[in-house]
Amino acid sequence: MDERDVFTGGCACGQLTFKAHGAPKRVGLCHCMTCRKVTGSVFNAFAVFPADQVTISGDSRSWEAVPGGQNRFCPQCGSLVFYSDGSDEIELMLGAFDRTDLFKPTYEAWTKRRESWLCTPDLISYPENRGEVTS
Ligand SMILES: [Zn+2]
Ligand SMILES: [Zn+2]
Repeated sequence: MDERDVFTGGCACGQLTFKAHGAPKRVGLCHCMTCRKVTGSVFNAFAVFPADQVTISGDSRSWEAVPGGQNRFCPQCGSLVFYSDGSDEIELMLGAFDRTDLFKPTYEAWTKRRESWLCTPDLISYPENRGEVTS
């Protein structure tokens, strides 16, 4: 495995860390109310990796907006670091990576909640959840 394909990240205080290798399956943004609230920001950005390509170290707590959907954060500093719903994928928060500009999103979800001043590049856009089209 090429060392350049290993991506590290973690919380603000450094207690909870991750290492991901290979390429993400997809990279997206979400403007939904839950993503806004759990991040404290106006949207969430994340890279989705196959769970078996990610190693987590340290202590985490979780909060579930939907049953089984675990928003995992550091109990010391409160940083949201990853999301796991027990499937074979894990969402790593883009802002938790140790380096900037690693991945570019290709889609955004819940654009009906997007701030009107926010300019994003031309992305595949879903008014609500990814893959759902509403009129
Ligand atoms: Zn921390
Ligand atoms: Zn969301």
